[in-house]
Parts: sequence; structure tokens; C-alpha cells
Amino acid sequence: MKWTNAFIPTLREAPADAEILSHKLLLRAGLIRKLAGGVYTFLPLGLRALRKVEQIVREEMDRAGALELLMPALQPPEIWQQSGRYETAGNVLFKLKDSGNREWILSPTAEEVITTTAAAEINSYRQLPKNFYQISVKFRDEIRPRFGLMRAREFIMKDAYSFDVSDEAAQACYQKMYDAYGRIFARCGLKAFPVEADTGVIGGKFSHEFMVPAETGENEVVYCEACGYAANIEKATSAVSQRASGILPEEQTGTAGGTPAARSIEKFATPGVVTIEALSKAPYNVPANRQIKTLVYMADSKPVIILIRGDDQLNEAKLAGIIGTTVFRPATPEECVATLGAHPGSLGAVASTLERRPPARLEGEPLQRAVPEAGAPRIFADERLHGANGMTTGANEDGFHFRNVSIERDIKVTQWFDLRTVTAGEPCAKCNKPLKIRRAIEVGHVFKLGTKYSEKLGATFLDEAGTRKPAVMGCYGIGVTRTLQAVIEQCNDKDGIIWPLSVAPYQVCITPLGVAPDGAVMKLAEKIYAELTARGVEVILDDRDERPGVKFKDSELVGFPIRIGIGEKSLAKGEVELKPRGGALQPVKADVAVEAVVKLLEEGQASLR
Ligand SMILES: [Zn+2]
Repeated sequence: MKWTNAFIPTLREAPADAEILSHKLLLRAGLIRKLAGGVYTFLPLGLRALRKVEQIVREEMDRAGALELLMPALQPPEIWQQSGRYETAGNVLFKLKDSGNREWILSPTAEEVITTTAAAEINSYRQLPKNFYQISVKFRDEIRPRFGLMRAREFIMKDAYSFDVSDEAAQACYQKMYDAYGRIFARCGLKAFPVEADTGVIGGKFSHEFMVPAETGENEVVYCEACGYAANIEKATSAVSQRASGILPEEQTGTAGGTPAARSIEKFATPGVVTIEALSKAPYNVPANRQIKTLVYMADSKPVIILIRGDDQLNEAKLAGIIGTTVFRPATPEECVATLGAHPGSLGAVASTLERRPPARLEGEPLQRAVPEAGAPRIFADERLHGANGMTTGANEDGFHFRNVSIERDIKVTQWFDLRTVTAGEPCAKCNKPLKIRRAIEVGHVFKLGTKYSEKLGATFLDEAGTRKPAVMGCYGIGVTRTLQAVIEQCNDKDGIIWPLSVAPYQVCITPLGVAPDGAVMKLAEKIYAELTARGVEVILDDRDERPGVKFKDSELVGFPIRIGIGEKSLAKGEVELKPRGGALQPVKADVAVEAVVKLLEEGQASLR
């Protein structure tokens, strides 16, 4: 391709709304342009790079035995109602009405479509296993699209769905996909690593995310350098989050004399104190780790009381996993009053304060209840509070708290869970070494779905004995456009992008420093261009009549892996200048330049396998 025939609108400055480096470089290198918030056009050079990522994904999916198909972007809402996700995923679904006022959903993912298809087409164990994939445009109604292709309203995703006869077979398929993902990201030149992940609203039993470390990533990964443990912060646990391993004796019992477990609960006035911090200061001086934080959430219009230690943060993803839906929210102050009789800041779950206000339909029943019954708010407590004594908590009366609370004695916990968010430095649950946290970009996700969708949408088969069973499913996503941007986020320097050979829009840029058609410089440039092209190398010839500085700057900004500089000075010595992007200038004899470039390309490609 001649530069003058190409369309490479490079920019000296990135538009002001581009926040992170990779987004700026996508725009500055002339790869994409914004149409509207979270909606982008891929310009020719950007599309070339995108197609290469897609092709790597396609080759590895094919190699792993997956079958490519293409499902519609328009989906009827009925299948989403059937799977139960019409409500739970409602906030990210793009919905539209046709001229007959019929509703449609723009595909954010395709579990419902593929499972409906499988239900109609698969009937026997003989047709299994099957793993279908597509690479297609997806839509998400992002409230806050940002960072370019990282969080867009419209994006390209590879999604695959597997159907197996048993858990065992599904596990083998999961492993195949997991391995394929490792190869895909390595071939894209990305340093990505798998972490244990939350299964969230998509449901299912087990999942891994593939993460690219980046300061600008929207995910936090908890990891242990000693034993290799790694998990998304939404899923991560530590030794202190686990029962009986994390609470030191002094944390449980307090250090002030006597046995706090034996002291009786005591109400004290705390006028105007509504935060953990305020209670930790004089005159109260109750350290945060001696306080029980009481949170009220509404799930399905019913309150759930959450208890965690005062210095811990609730992990809403863990709560979602427990409740089984993301459709929940913190209670309003009015709902807190209705549930517990006090405003936030004075809330607690001490049994005697709950017994004073049984739910209306239980009125007239005895007040002494060992466990809250149906209708009474459920109390979920964090494992770290297990066995905690001498704690302070709200008294469900504005302006009052209790001290000397023994959680086992004074609070009727419905169920114990790991509810807290892990923080850096906590001991690893596996090896006790300190955990670290870093930011990362999620580029892929593999899920074991089990039979959730196949049961609801009727994807069943007859096994060898003639018994009808639901297929065991898995699903596997890769954000293709996001992966492309992650490559740029990871591979760059002050001058621009440093494309890995495998995804570079062109592998070689020939930069003649004079473009007179009859000049020796341009003649050699044309000759090398023709020879490299004939050898199957993707070359762009910068035939613009521009100053050398402009040409060099553009080729660095766009990030072509190898530049061949041809100027009169070096040509007088019979040489051209090879410059690998990000590497040192290498003078080579003009007559062996093509061979030298082909050798560099082969070495570079070999390193990506
Ligand atoms: Zn460890």
C-alpha cells in the first residue's frame, strides 16, 4: 500500500475526552474515530489490526474444535424472559420497538439464542459434544461508556457456547478453551494471566477471567507471588476472610481486663454519632475493628441485614452471588427505619432489639424466636465476625449503641458468608504470604454454566440408556475490540504504538527520504516494496512528499514493527537503515535488505508462538 493511497489521519494531539493512553493512541494513530459516546468507526488501519486479532481468535477456536456460526444481533425478549435474565440483566440490555410496537433486544451475548437453537436441533448424545462460536457485534447499554473501546456501547466479541453430556465432559471442554485462551493472548503479543472470577449474573459454577495488567484497568486482581493464587477482587478471599483462621484472639475478645464474653450487653448514648469513624474517636474510642457495621439491602423488596466488621468493606459481588441476583440495592433511610426502627448510623441486629418489632404478619406470636422466620429479615454475617466478643453495634434507636456485644450470644445470624473485600497485605488463604493487588483489563472470560440455561430453555438430549437429560453447558467470551486496545495499552512508548508483528496493520514501513520518481532513493524504495510484497510481507510505502521528521514521527506513532529508512547519505554507502520499532537502528547493505527484513519478521513471529 502506498501511503498516499491509504487513509491514515494521524493527529498531533488526542481529543480532550480521550482519558487513557491507549485510547489517545487509537485516535492519534488514525485507527478509530468516535461517532457518539461509546460508538466508534474503525478506519482502514484500525480495521486491519482488528481483523488480525479476529483471525488469531478464529484459528485457535477452530483448532480447539469449536464451530463458527453467526447468530442475529436482534433477539426476541421472550427467550430472555424464559431464561430469567430479562430482569436480572435488564440494566445493560438495549431494547427497541419495531413498527408494530413489538420489543426486541440488541444482543449483548447469546446464551439464550444458542440454547434455543440447541433445544431444537440436538436430541441425542450422539450429536454431542458441540461447541459453537461467533465473532460479532454486541451491544451494552453502558451508563458511562469510557476509555474508547474498553467500555463501549457497541463492540466486537467472540462468544462460544459448549454443550456436553456430563460434568466431566464439560470440564474437559472448559480446559480446552482455557488453554486456547492462553494461546490467543500470547499470539496477540499480550501478557495476560488467568484469575479466578465471580460468576455474577450470568450464573454458573466456576469461572476464570483473563487479565492484562494495566494501571488503567477497571478490574482489581488479588494475587500471591508465592503460590500463584490469583482472583478478581470480587471473588478473592484471604486467610482473614475464612472462619477460625483469620481472627486473632485479641481481636475477638478485646484486650481490656476480664473476659469480654462474660460481660453483659450495655446500651450507651452516642448522640449524633452515625459513622464508624466518629465512634472510633473520643469520647467513645471504639476502634473500627471492634465495631459491627450493619447494612440493610433490599432484594426482591425484602430487607437483608448484612453484618461486617467496622473496618471491612462489603463486597457487593459476593452478596449478589449469595442472593442470586444483581437486582438489589442499599435500603433507603426510610426502609431502614421500617426494618430496624432506626436510621443508618444507629443500626444493629441485636436480637432483643429485633424482637420488639416482629413483622406485621407475625404479630401475636411469641416474641422469643431462635432464628428469624420467613418474613423476618435475614441476617447475613461475615465469617470474620465469627466468635467476636466485646463488640460495639447500633442499638436500633437513634443516638444509641450497644457495647459488650457477643455475636454468637446476642445476634441470631441466619447464615455466615465470606462477604468482605480483601485488602492488600492480608495473608494468602493458601500459603499465608501477603497478598498483593493490581489493576488489570479483563480481555476474556471462561464459565462453567452447568445446566442453568439448558434446563430453562429445554436443551435436552437422550443419553445411551434413553434417559432425557439437560446438556451441560459452558460459555467463553473474548472482547475482541477490547483485546486490540489492551495490546496498545501494553505495547507503547513515548512516541506511539509498538505493534506486535501478529496484529500490526502493516509489518513494514518503507520510508524514502526523497520521493522524486526518477531519484535513486525512490527507485530503491519501489524495488524493496515490490520484492517484500511478492514475499507476502505487508508493506506500506511512505511516498508522501513530507519532511523526514514528519514521516519518522508518523511511522513511530502508528507503530509499524519494522521501518526501512532510505536516504541519499546512507545510499551513497550502498546502505539502508533498518529500524525495528522500539529497537536500535541497523544499517544493512541495500542488496540484502529484503533478506534481512524477512529474517527479522520470521524471528519476531516465532517469538509470538
Ligand atoms: Zn499464596
